[in-house]
Amino acid sequence: MARRRGDPSLPPLATDISADVVIVGGGFTGLWTAIALRQRKPDLKIVLIEAQVCGAGASGKNGGLVSGYWGSLPGIAKGLGANAALEIARAGAKAQDALRAFVQNTEVDLWWREAGLVMVSASPAQDLSIQHAAQEAARLGVPHTAQQLTPQQVQSICGASPFRGGIYYPEGATVHPGRLVRALRAHANRLGVAIFENTPMTALERGTPNRIVTPSGAIVARDVVLATNVELIKLREVAPYVTLFSSYAGMTEPAEEPLRSTRWLGDQGLTDARMFVHYFRKTPDHRVLMGSGSGPIAFGAQTTSPLLFRDQASAGRVLAGVRRLLPELARVRMAGIWGGPIDVATDRLPYFATIPRTRVHYAAGYSGHGVNPTYIGGQCLASLVLDEKDYWAQLPFCTRQRPTFPPEPLRFIGGRAIRWGILACEDAEDMERKAGLCARALATLPELFGLRVGTR
Ligand SMILES: Cc1cc2nc3c(=O)[nH]c(=O)nc-3n(C[C@H](O)[C@H](O)[C@H](O)COP(=O)(O)OP(=O)(O)OC[C@H]3O[C@@H](n4cnc5c(N)ncnc54)[C@H](O)[C@@H]3O)c2cc1C
Repeated sequence: MARRRGDPSLPPLATDISADVVIVGGGFTGLWTAIALRQRKPDLKIVLIEAQVCGAGASGKNGGLVSGYWGSLPGIAKGLGANAALEIARAGAKAQDALRAFVQNTEVDLWWREAGLVMVSASPAQDLSIQHAAQEAARLGVPHTAQQLTPQQVQSICGASPFRGGIYYPEGATVHPGRLVRALRAHANRLGVAIFENTPMTALERGTPNRIVTPSGAIVARDVVLATNVELIKLREVAPYVTLFSSYAGMTEPAEEPLRSTRWLGDQGLTDARMFVHYFRKTPDHRVLMGSGSGPIAFGAQTTSPLLFRDQASAGRVLAGVRRLLPELARVRMAGIWGGPIDVATDRLPYFATIPRTRVHYAAGYSGHGVNPTYIGGQCLASLVLDEKDYWAQLPFCTRQRPTFPPEPLRFIGGRAIRWGILACEDAEDMERKAGLCARALATLPELFGLRVGTR
Protein backbone atom coordinates (compact mmCIF):
# COMPACT_ATOMS: atom_id res chain seq x y z
CA MET A 1 0.00 0.00 0.00
CA ALA A 2 1.39 3.43 -0.87
CA ARG A 3 2.06 5.49 2.22
CA ARG A 4 1.47 9.20 2.44
CA ARG A 5 4.27 11.59 3.30
CA GLY A 6 4.51 12.09 7.06
CA ASP A 7 2.98 8.65 7.61
CA PRO A 8 6.06 6.46 8.07
CA SER A 9 5.95 2.80 8.94
CA LEU A 10 6.41 1.86 12.59
CA PRO A 11 9.69 0.21 13.69
CA PRO A 12 9.93 -3.60 13.69
CA LEU A 13 10.25 -5.68 16.83
CA ALA A 14 13.93 -5.87 17.78
CA THR A 15 14.00 -7.85 21.02
CA ASP A 16 12.19 -10.50 23.09
CA ILE A 17 9.13 -9.18 24.93
CA SER A 18 6.02 -10.40 26.73
CA ALA A 19 2.41 -9.27 26.53
CA ASP A 20 -1.07 -10.25 27.65
CA VAL A 21 -2.30 -10.49 24.07
CA VAL A 22 -0.46 -10.65 20.74
CA ILE A 23 -2.44 -9.82 17.64
CA VAL A 24 -0.92 -11.02 14.37
CA GLY A 25 -2.02 -8.96 11.35
CA GLY A 26 -2.57 -5.22 11.01
CA GLY A 27 -5.66 -5.11 8.82
CA PHE A 28 -9.11 -4.03 9.95
CA THR A 29 -9.62 -7.22 12.01
CA GLY A 30 -6.40 -6.93 13.98
CA LEU A 31 -6.77 -3.20 14.56
CA TRP A 32 -10.45 -3.35 15.61
CA THR A 33 -9.59 -6.23 17.99
CA ALA A 34 -6.76 -4.24 19.55
CA ILE A 35 -9.02 -1.20 19.96
CA ALA A 36 -11.87 -3.26 21.45
CA LEU A 37 -9.54 -4.92 23.95
CA ARG A 38 -7.98 -1.64 25.10
CA GLN A 39 -11.40 -0.02 25.39
CA ARG A 40 -12.73 -2.88 27.52
CA LYS A 41 -9.56 -3.46 29.59
CA PRO A 42 -7.27 -0.40 29.43
CA ASP A 43 -4.57 -2.10 31.52
CA LEU A 44 -4.06 -5.06 29.15
CA LYS A 45 -0.65 -5.15 27.49
CA ILE A 46 -1.40 -5.61 23.80
CA VAL A 47 1.14 -6.08 21.03
CA LEU A 48 0.20 -6.09 17.35
CA ILE A 49 2.67 -7.33 14.74
CA GLU A 50 2.23 -6.82 11.01
CA ALA A 51 4.35 -8.55 8.36
CA GLN A 52 4.49 -5.45 6.14
CA VAL A 53 2.66 -2.22 7.00
CA CYS A 54 -0.84 -2.00 8.43
CA GLY A 55 -3.28 -2.16 5.53
CA ALA A 56 -0.91 -4.07 3.22
CA GLY A 57 -3.52 -6.82 2.86
CA ALA A 58 -7.14 -6.61 1.73
CA SER A 59 -7.95 -3.83 4.19
CA GLY A 60 -5.87 -1.29 2.29
CA LYS A 61 -6.98 -2.23 -1.20
CA ASN A 62 -10.64 -3.13 -1.08
CA GLY A 63 -13.52 -1.52 -2.94
CA GLY A 64 -14.57 0.66 -0.03
CA LEU A 65 -18.24 -0.32 -0.05
CA VAL A 66 -19.44 -0.55 3.53
CA SER A 67 -22.56 -2.41 4.58
CA GLY A 68 -23.69 -5.10 6.95
CA TYR A 69 -25.94 -8.01 6.09
CA TRP A 70 -29.39 -6.67 5.12
CA GLY A 71 -28.45 -7.27 1.49
CA SER A 72 -27.64 -10.94 2.18
CA LEU A 73 -30.71 -11.60 4.31
CA PRO A 74 -32.51 -13.98 1.91
CA GLY A 75 -29.48 -16.26 1.50
CA ILE A 76 -28.63 -16.27 5.20
CA ALA A 77 -32.24 -16.97 6.19
CA LYS A 78 -32.31 -19.88 3.78
CA GLY A 79 -29.24 -21.45 5.38
CA LEU A 80 -29.56 -20.51 9.05
CA GLY A 81 -33.23 -19.60 9.53
CA ALA A 82 -34.98 -16.27 9.94
CA ASN A 83 -33.99 -15.56 13.54
CA ALA A 84 -30.27 -16.11 13.01
CA ALA A 85 -30.37 -14.07 9.80
CA LEU A 86 -32.01 -11.14 11.58
CA GLU A 87 -29.53 -11.39 14.45
CA ILE A 88 -26.67 -11.26 11.96
CA ALA A 89 -28.13 -8.29 10.11
CA ARG A 90 -28.71 -6.41 13.39
CA ALA A 91 -25.07 -7.01 14.38
CA GLY A 92 -24.09 -5.51 11.01
CA ALA A 93 -26.21 -2.45 11.84
CA LYS A 94 -24.33 -2.06 15.15
CA ALA A 95 -21.05 -2.27 13.24
CA GLN A 96 -22.24 0.41 10.80
CA ASP A 97 -23.11 2.69 13.76
CA ALA A 98 -19.65 2.09 15.26
CA LEU A 99 -17.90 2.84 11.96
CA ARG A 100 -19.88 6.06 11.57
CA ALA A 101 -19.00 7.10 15.13
CA PHE A 102 -15.32 6.34 14.50
CA VAL A 103 -15.32 8.38 11.29
CA GLN A 104 -17.06 11.30 12.98
CA ASN A 105 -14.47 11.32 15.77
CA THR A 106 -11.51 11.21 13.39
CA GLU A 107 -9.93 14.47 12.29
CA VAL A 108 -8.70 13.16 8.93
CA ASP A 109 -11.28 13.06 6.11
CA LEU A 110 -11.79 9.33 5.46
CA TRP A 111 -14.00 10.01 2.41
CA TRP A 112 -16.93 8.45 4.29
CA ARG A 113 -20.14 9.06 2.34
CA GLU A 114 -23.28 7.54 3.75
CA ALA A 115 -26.13 7.59 1.25
CA GLY A 116 -27.08 3.91 1.23
CA LEU A 117 -26.40 1.27 -1.40
CA VAL A 118 -28.39 0.49 -4.52
CA MET A 119 -28.42 -2.99 -6.02
CA VAL A 120 -29.38 -2.46 -9.65
CA SER A 121 -30.71 -4.93 -12.14
CA ALA A 122 -28.67 -4.87 -15.33
CA SER A 123 -30.42 -7.71 -17.18
CA PRO A 124 -33.84 -9.41 -17.20
CA ALA A 125 -32.35 -12.32 -15.20
CA GLN A 126 -31.29 -9.91 -12.48
CA ASP A 127 -34.86 -8.53 -12.22
CA LEU A 128 -35.80 -11.78 -10.48
CA SER A 129 -33.07 -11.41 -7.84
CA ILE A 130 -34.23 -7.87 -7.13
CA GLN A 131 -37.84 -8.94 -6.69
CA HIS A 132 -36.83 -11.86 -4.49
CA ALA A 133 -34.69 -9.66 -2.22
CA ALA A 134 -37.54 -7.18 -1.64
CA GLN A 135 -40.08 -9.98 -1.06
CA GLU A 136 -37.82 -11.70 1.45
CA ALA A 137 -37.22 -8.49 3.43
CA ALA A 138 -41.00 -8.01 3.61
CA ARG A 139 -41.59 -11.64 4.62
CA LEU A 140 -39.02 -11.33 7.40
CA GLY A 141 -40.73 -8.20 8.72
CA VAL A 142 -38.04 -5.69 7.71
CA PRO A 143 -39.28 -4.17 4.43
CA HIS A 144 -37.63 -0.80 5.25
CA THR A 145 -34.17 -2.39 4.95
CA ALA A 146 -34.58 -3.28 1.25
CA GLN A 147 -36.86 -0.94 -0.70
CA GLN A 148 -37.69 -1.87 -4.28
CA LEU A 149 -37.15 0.93 -6.81
CA THR A 150 -38.91 1.43 -10.12
CA PRO A 151 -36.76 1.95 -13.23
CA GLN A 152 -37.61 5.67 -13.01
CA GLN A 153 -36.44 5.84 -9.40
CA VAL A 154 -33.20 4.05 -10.28
CA GLN A 155 -32.66 6.51 -13.11
CA SER A 156 -33.15 9.43 -10.75
CA ILE A 157 -30.22 8.04 -8.72
CA CYS A 158 -27.86 6.81 -11.41
CA GLY A 159 -29.23 8.40 -14.53
CA ALA A 160 -28.47 7.28 -18.00
CA SER A 161 -26.99 3.89 -17.19
CA PRO A 162 -28.59 0.69 -18.51
CA PHE A 163 -30.37 -0.19 -15.26
CA ARG A 164 -33.83 -1.69 -15.25
CA GLY A 165 -34.83 -1.48 -11.59
CA GLY A 166 -33.23 -1.90 -8.23
CA ILE A 167 -33.30 -2.12 -4.48
CA TYR A 168 -32.33 0.67 -2.15
CA TYR A 169 -30.58 -0.43 1.03
CA PRO A 170 -30.56 2.58 3.39
CA GLU A 171 -27.72 0.97 5.37
CA GLY A 172 -24.66 1.59 3.24
CA ALA A 173 -21.69 3.88 2.88
CA THR A 174 -18.48 4.25 0.95
CA VAL A 175 -15.03 4.98 2.37
CA HIS A 176 -11.37 5.36 1.41
CA PRO A 177 -10.07 2.05 2.80
CA GLY A 178 -6.43 3.15 3.00
CA ARG A 179 -7.34 6.23 5.00
CA LEU A 180 -9.58 4.17 7.29
CA VAL A 181 -6.86 1.63 8.05
CA ARG A 182 -4.33 4.39 8.78
CA ALA A 183 -6.80 6.13 11.09
CA LEU A 184 -7.40 2.85 12.95
CA ARG A 185 -3.66 2.31 13.28
CA ALA A 186 -3.22 5.82 14.71
CA HIS A 187 -6.14 5.29 17.10
CA ALA A 188 -4.84 1.93 18.33
CA ASN A 189 -1.43 3.49 18.85
CA ARG A 190 -2.94 6.36 20.85
CA LEU A 191 -4.80 3.87 23.04
CA GLY A 192 -1.45 2.30 23.96
CA VAL A 193 -1.31 -0.72 21.64
CA ALA A 194 2.35 -1.50 20.80
CA ILE A 195 2.44 -1.90 17.00
CA PHE A 196 5.44 -3.38 15.20
CA GLU A 197 5.42 -3.24 11.40
CA ASN A 198 7.66 -5.23 9.06
CA THR A 199 7.52 -7.95 11.71
CA PRO A 200 6.24 -11.24 10.28
CA MET A 201 5.32 -14.10 12.58
CA THR A 202 7.54 -16.95 11.40
CA ALA A 203 6.31 -19.52 13.93
CA LEU A 204 3.61 -19.93 16.54
CA GLU A 205 4.51 -22.26 19.40
CA ARG A 206 1.19 -23.08 21.03
CA GLY A 207 1.35 -23.47 24.79
CA THR A 208 0.71 -21.86 28.16
CA PRO A 209 1.84 -19.25 27.46
CA ASN A 210 2.07 -19.10 23.65
CA ARG A 211 5.26 -18.01 21.96
CA ILE A 212 5.32 -16.04 18.69
CA VAL A 213 8.58 -16.05 16.78
CA THR A 214 9.62 -13.18 14.48
CA PRO A 215 12.96 -12.59 12.66
CA SER A 216 14.39 -10.40 15.43
CA GLY A 217 12.53 -11.17 18.61
CA ALA A 218 9.98 -13.47 20.21
CA ILE A 219 6.81 -12.56 22.10
CA VAL A 220 5.41 -14.60 24.95
CA ALA A 221 1.72 -14.08 25.62
CA ARG A 222 -1.26 -15.80 27.21
CA ASP A 223 -3.57 -15.04 24.27
CA VAL A 224 -2.87 -14.90 20.55
CA VAL A 225 -5.26 -13.49 17.96
CA LEU A 226 -4.59 -14.55 14.38
CA ALA A 227 -5.96 -11.78 12.17
CA THR A 228 -4.00 -12.84 9.11
CA ASN A 229 -6.99 -13.26 6.77
CA VAL A 230 -6.28 -15.65 3.88
CA GLU A 231 -3.11 -16.96 5.54
CA LEU A 232 -5.36 -18.78 8.00
CA ILE A 233 -6.22 -21.32 5.32
CA LYS A 234 -2.85 -22.88 6.20
CA LEU A 235 -4.22 -23.91 9.63
CA ARG A 236 -5.70 -27.39 9.71
CA GLU A 237 -8.52 -26.13 11.95
CA VAL A 238 -9.57 -23.55 9.33
CA ALA A 239 -8.78 -25.21 5.99
CA PRO A 240 -11.96 -27.33 5.61
CA TYR A 241 -14.23 -24.29 5.87
CA VAL A 242 -12.70 -21.78 3.45
CA THR A 243 -11.44 -21.68 -0.10
CA LEU A 244 -9.25 -19.14 -1.87
CA PHE A 245 -11.01 -16.94 -4.42
CA SER A 246 -9.99 -13.49 -5.56
CA SER A 247 -11.59 -10.12 -6.13
CA TYR A 248 -10.40 -7.51 -8.63
CA ALA A 249 -10.91 -3.75 -8.59
CA GLY A 250 -9.87 -0.83 -10.76
CA MET A 251 -9.84 2.94 -10.36
CA THR A 252 -10.36 5.38 -13.23
CA GLU A 253 -8.42 8.57 -13.68
CA PRO A 254 -10.37 11.66 -12.50
CA ALA A 255 -13.22 12.16 -14.96
CA GLU A 256 -15.47 14.98 -13.80
CA GLU A 257 -17.23 15.65 -17.10
CA PRO A 258 -17.93 12.04 -18.15
CA LEU A 259 -19.06 11.31 -14.60
CA ARG A 260 -21.46 14.22 -14.68
CA SER A 261 -22.92 12.92 -17.93
CA THR A 262 -23.83 9.62 -16.25
CA ARG A 263 -26.22 11.62 -14.01
CA TRP A 264 -25.19 9.41 -11.10
CA LEU A 265 -25.77 12.33 -8.81
CA GLY A 266 -25.85 10.88 -5.31
CA ASP A 267 -23.18 9.25 -3.19
CA GLN A 268 -24.80 5.80 -3.18
CA GLY A 269 -22.54 2.83 -3.68
CA LEU A 270 -23.83 0.56 -6.44
CA THR A 271 -23.75 -3.16 -7.13
CA ASP A 272 -25.42 -5.23 -9.77
CA ALA A 273 -27.34 -8.41 -8.94
CA ARG A 274 -24.88 -10.95 -10.35
CA MET A 275 -23.49 -13.63 -8.07
CA PHE A 276 -20.05 -12.59 -9.34
CA VAL A 277 -21.02 -9.08 -8.43
CA HIS A 278 -19.85 -5.78 -9.91
CA TYR A 279 -19.51 -3.20 -7.12
CA PHE A 280 -18.77 0.46 -7.76
CA ARG A 281 -18.50 3.83 -6.09
CA LYS A 282 -17.54 7.39 -6.88
CA THR A 283 -14.71 9.17 -5.10
CA PRO A 284 -14.63 12.80 -3.96
CA ASP A 285 -11.91 13.47 -6.58
CA HIS A 286 -14.28 12.39 -9.39
CA ARG A 287 -13.02 8.90 -10.09
CA VAL A 288 -14.96 5.66 -10.19
CA LEU A 289 -13.87 2.47 -8.51
CA MET A 290 -15.25 -0.61 -10.24
CA GLY A 291 -14.81 -4.07 -8.72
CA SER A 292 -15.63 -7.55 -9.89
CA GLY A 293 -15.88 -10.40 -7.43
CA SER A 294 -15.13 -12.93 -10.15
CA GLY A 295 -11.40 -13.59 -9.79
CA PRO A 296 -9.86 -17.06 -10.11
CA ILE A 297 -9.63 -19.72 -7.44
CA ALA A 298 -6.23 -20.89 -6.15
CA PHE A 299 -5.27 -24.44 -5.26
CA GLY A 300 -5.21 -25.39 -1.57
CA ALA A 301 -3.38 -22.82 0.51
CA GLN A 302 -1.43 -21.14 -2.33
CA THR A 303 -2.07 -17.64 -1.01
CA THR A 304 0.65 -16.07 -3.16
CA SER A 305 -0.49 -17.61 -6.45
CA PRO A 306 -0.18 -14.97 -9.23
CA LEU A 307 -3.75 -15.86 -10.27
CA LEU A 308 -4.98 -14.05 -7.17
CA PHE A 309 -3.14 -10.81 -7.92
CA ARG A 310 -2.51 -10.51 -11.66
CA ASP A 311 -5.12 -12.24 -13.79
CA GLN A 312 -5.62 -10.61 -17.19
CA ALA A 313 -9.12 -12.03 -17.67
CA SER A 314 -10.30 -10.66 -14.33
CA ALA A 315 -8.79 -7.25 -15.07
CA GLY A 316 -10.65 -7.43 -18.40
CA ARG A 317 -13.93 -8.07 -16.57
CA VAL A 318 -13.37 -4.93 -14.46
CA LEU A 319 -12.91 -2.91 -17.66
CA ALA A 320 -15.90 -4.57 -19.31
CA GLY A 321 -17.94 -3.71 -16.19
CA VAL A 322 -17.11 -0.02 -16.60
CA ARG A 323 -17.99 -0.10 -20.30
CA ARG A 324 -21.25 -1.93 -19.83
CA LEU A 325 -22.55 -0.36 -16.63
CA LEU A 326 -21.19 3.17 -17.06
CA PRO A 327 -20.85 3.57 -20.85
CA GLU A 328 -20.21 7.32 -20.48
CA LEU A 329 -16.87 6.39 -18.89
CA ALA A 330 -15.86 3.91 -21.58
CA ARG A 331 -13.06 6.15 -22.87
CA VAL A 332 -11.71 7.18 -19.48
CA ARG A 333 -8.33 5.63 -18.68
CA MET A 334 -7.89 3.34 -15.71
CA ALA A 335 -5.29 4.58 -13.22
CA GLY A 336 -4.82 1.00 -12.03
CA ILE A 337 -6.40 -2.43 -11.69
CA TRP A 338 -5.42 -4.82 -8.90
CA GLY A 339 -6.48 -8.13 -7.43
CA GLY A 340 -6.31 -9.76 -4.05
CA PRO A 341 -7.23 -13.04 -2.40
CA ILE A 342 -10.43 -13.49 -0.43
CA ASP A 343 -11.23 -16.42 1.85
CA VAL A 344 -14.70 -17.62 0.94
CA ALA A 345 -16.54 -19.68 3.57
CA THR A 346 -18.97 -22.45 2.73
CA ASP A 347 -21.84 -20.29 4.00
CA ARG A 348 -20.25 -16.98 2.94
CA LEU A 349 -20.13 -15.68 6.52
CA PRO A 350 -17.11 -15.04 8.74
CA TYR A 351 -16.43 -17.16 11.78
CA PHE A 352 -14.67 -16.11 14.99
CA ALA A 353 -13.37 -18.91 17.18
CA THR A 354 -10.82 -20.24 19.64
CA ILE A 355 -8.82 -23.28 18.57
CA PRO A 356 -9.89 -26.02 20.99
CA ARG A 357 -7.63 -26.55 24.03
CA THR A 358 -5.60 -23.42 23.23
CA ARG A 359 -5.78 -19.69 23.80
CA VAL A 360 -5.34 -18.99 20.11
CA HIS A 361 -8.26 -17.16 18.50
CA TYR A 362 -8.91 -16.37 14.85
CA ALA A 363 -11.21 -14.68 12.33
CA ALA A 364 -11.81 -16.39 8.98
CA GLY A 365 -14.24 -16.48 6.09
CA TYR A 366 -15.17 -12.86 5.37
CA SER A 367 -15.91 -13.99 1.81
CA GLY A 368 -15.00 -10.70 0.14
CA HIS A 369 -17.20 -8.63 2.46
CA GLY A 370 -15.22 -7.32 5.39
CA VAL A 371 -15.18 -3.56 5.87
CA ASN A 372 -18.22 -3.60 8.16
CA PRO A 373 -17.89 -7.22 9.43
CA THR A 374 -14.30 -6.77 10.64
CA TYR A 375 -15.72 -4.49 13.35
CA ILE A 376 -17.91 -7.42 14.44
CA GLY A 377 -14.79 -9.60 14.25
CA GLY A 378 -12.91 -7.24 16.57
CA GLN A 379 -15.71 -7.32 19.15
CA CYS A 380 -16.17 -11.10 18.95
CA LEU A 381 -12.44 -11.76 19.23
CA ALA A 382 -12.17 -9.40 22.21
CA SER A 383 -14.97 -11.34 23.92
CA LEU A 384 -13.19 -14.64 23.21
CA VAL A 385 -9.90 -13.32 24.60
CA LEU A 386 -11.60 -12.00 27.72
CA ASP A 387 -13.79 -15.11 28.17
CA GLU A 388 -16.87 -12.91 28.10
CA LYS A 389 -20.08 -14.76 27.25
CA ASP A 390 -21.66 -11.51 26.08
CA TYR A 391 -23.80 -10.39 23.12
CA TRP A 392 -20.89 -10.72 20.67
CA ALA A 393 -19.72 -14.17 21.79
CA GLN A 394 -23.25 -15.54 21.42
CA LEU A 395 -23.84 -14.35 17.88
CA PRO A 396 -24.05 -16.98 15.11
CA PHE A 397 -20.66 -15.61 13.97
CA CYS A 398 -19.15 -17.53 16.92
CA THR A 399 -21.63 -20.33 17.53
CA ARG A 400 -23.08 -21.73 14.29
CA GLN A 401 -22.29 -25.09 12.71
CA ARG A 402 -20.64 -24.75 9.30
CA PRO A 403 -20.56 -27.16 6.37
CA THR A 404 -17.13 -28.10 5.01
CA PHE A 405 -15.70 -28.02 1.49
CA PRO A 406 -14.55 -31.24 -0.16
CA PRO A 407 -10.79 -31.85 0.20
CA GLU A 408 -8.21 -31.00 -2.51
CA PRO A 409 -7.93 -31.63 -5.40
CA LEU A 410 -11.74 -31.93 -5.59
CA ARG A 411 -12.24 -28.47 -4.13
CA PHE A 412 -10.07 -26.81 -6.77
CA ILE A 413 -11.31 -28.82 -9.74
CA GLY A 414 -14.96 -28.54 -8.67
CA GLY A 415 -14.60 -24.87 -7.77
CA ARG A 416 -13.07 -24.01 -11.14
CA ALA A 417 -15.77 -25.88 -13.04
CA ILE A 418 -18.59 -24.26 -11.08
CA ARG A 419 -17.02 -20.82 -11.45
CA TRP A 420 -16.76 -21.34 -15.20
CA GLY A 421 -20.43 -22.42 -15.30
CA ILE A 422 -21.66 -19.42 -13.35
CA LEU A 423 -19.55 -16.94 -15.34
CA ALA A 424 -20.87 -18.41 -18.59
CA CYS A 425 -24.48 -18.19 -17.33
CA GLU A 426 -24.11 -14.61 -16.09
CA ASP A 427 -22.31 -13.43 -19.24
CA ALA A 428 -25.05 -14.99 -21.37
CA GLU A 429 -27.76 -13.40 -19.21
CA ASP A 430 -26.13 -9.99 -19.62
CA MET A 431 -26.63 -10.46 -23.37
CA GLU A 432 -30.17 -11.70 -22.79
CA ARG A 433 -29.27 -15.20 -23.92
CA LYS A 434 -29.36 -18.57 -22.19
CA ALA A 435 -26.05 -20.31 -21.47
CA GLY A 436 -25.40 -23.87 -22.71
CA LEU A 437 -26.71 -26.88 -20.81
CA CYS A 438 -23.29 -27.81 -19.42
CA ALA A 439 -22.73 -24.34 -17.91
CA ARG A 440 -26.22 -24.32 -16.43
CA ALA A 441 -25.78 -27.76 -14.91
CA LEU A 442 -22.43 -26.79 -13.32
CA ALA A 443 -23.91 -23.58 -11.94
CA THR A 444 -26.54 -25.50 -9.99
CA LEU A 445 -24.07 -27.89 -8.29
CA PRO A 446 -23.33 -25.84 -5.13
CA GLU A 447 -27.00 -25.72 -4.20
CA LEU A 448 -27.25 -29.50 -4.59
CA PHE A 449 -24.41 -29.87 -2.06
CA GLY A 450 -25.98 -27.41 0.40
CA LEU A 451 -23.27 -24.72 -0.06
CA ARG A 452 -24.05 -20.99 -0.23
CA VAL A 453 -20.85 -20.43 -2.23
CA GLY A 454 -21.68 -20.26 -5.88
CA THR A 455 -25.41 -20.27 -5.18
CA ARG A 456 -27.18 -17.81 -7.41
C1 LIG B 1 -9.95 -6.42 -4.30
C2 LIG B 1 -10.80 -6.53 -3.06
C3 LIG B 1 -11.95 -5.76 -2.96
C4 LIG B 1 -12.77 -5.84 -1.82
N1 LIG B 1 -13.84 -4.99 -1.72
C5 LIG B 1 -14.58 -4.98 -0.58
C6 LIG B 1 -15.63 -4.03 -0.42
O1 LIG B 1 -15.87 -3.17 -1.28
N2 LIG B 1 -16.36 -4.07 0.72
C7 LIG B 1 -16.11 -4.99 1.71
O2 LIG B 1 -16.82 -5.00 2.72
N3 LIG B 1 -15.08 -5.87 1.59
C8 LIG B 1 -14.31 -5.88 0.50
N4 LIG B 1 -13.25 -6.74 0.39
C9 LIG B 1 -12.93 -7.65 1.53
C10 LIG B 1 -12.24 -6.91 2.70
O3 LIG B 1 -11.24 -6.06 2.19
C11 LIG B 1 -11.63 -7.94 3.67
O4 LIG B 1 -12.62 -8.86 4.07
C12 LIG B 1 -11.05 -7.29 4.92
O5 LIG B 1 -10.21 -6.21 4.61
C13 LIG B 1 -10.30 -8.33 5.76
O6 LIG B 1 -9.59 -7.67 6.77
P1 LIG B 1 -8.52 -8.45 7.62
O7 LIG B 1 -7.94 -7.49 8.60
O8 LIG B 1 -9.14 -9.68 8.18
O9 LIG B 1 -7.44 -8.93 6.58
P2 LIG B 1 -6.21 -8.14 5.88
O10 LIG B 1 -6.53 -6.74 5.63
O11 LIG B 1 -5.77 -8.97 4.74
O12 LIG B 1 -5.12 -8.15 7.02
C14 LIG B 1 -4.34 -9.28 7.34
C15 LIG B 1 -2.94 -8.77 7.64
O13 LIG B 1 -2.17 -9.82 8.18
C16 LIG B 1 -0.85 -9.64 7.75
N5 LIG B 1 -0.16 -10.92 7.90
C17 LIG B 1 -0.35 -12.07 7.20
N6 LIG B 1 0.48 -13.04 7.63
C18 LIG B 1 1.22 -12.51 8.63
C19 LIG B 1 2.24 -12.99 9.47
N7 LIG B 1 2.72 -14.26 9.37
N8 LIG B 1 2.79 -12.16 10.41
C20 LIG B 1 2.34 -10.89 10.54
N9 LIG B 1 1.36 -10.36 9.75
C21 LIG B 1 0.81 -11.16 8.82
C22 LIG B 1 -0.98 -9.18 6.31
O14 LIG B 1 0.18 -8.50 5.85
C23 LIG B 1 -2.19 -8.28 6.39
O15 LIG B 1 -1.85 -6.92 6.55
C24 LIG B 1 -12.42 -6.74 -0.75
C25 LIG B 1 -11.29 -7.54 -0.86
C26 LIG B 1 -10.48 -7.44 -2.00
C27 LIG B 1 -9.24 -8.29 -2.09
